[in-house]
Amino acid sequence: MTTDCIFCKIIAGEIPASKVYDDDRVLAFNDINPQAPTHVLVIPKRHIESLATVNPEDGDLLGHLLTTASRLATDLGLAERGYRVVFNIGEDGGMAVYHLHAHILGGRRMAWPPG
Ligand code: AMP
Ligand code: ZN
Repeated sequence: MTTDCIFCKIIAGEIPASKVYDDDRVLAFNDINPQAPTHVLVIPKRHIESLATVNPEDGDLLGHLLTTASRLATDLGLAERGYRVVFNIGEDGGMAVYHLHAHILGGRRMAWPPG
């Protein structure tokens, strides 16, 4: 637990969240400021700052995070029409919370290139 990290506080139960999925390694919850009809965040329970700071030893956890995102997207009914999974990294990436998270966005047509 990193004490000043809002997502670590959600994991610790100190800040409420609308949980979608929970296991021993990852947590998924609805984004508080949704950018699409479905907007879910999937985070590792262990604090990792961003995709820019992952190590080879994090591979199993990242694989679990992505396969969980895939399964959740299917369970949420997004797989047939499609959806987007986004990692924002650093300032130019538009990152606001420095605890690694995958955004699952779906339920509307996405634009490309992204803003
Ligand atoms: P990013 O810009 O990739 O760092 O995205 C951070 C995301 O976290 C944003 O989409 C926020 O709306 C979302 N967020 C921030 N605080 C909370 C919270 N307490 N509960 C749920 N989502 C949050
Ligand atoms: Zn954290």
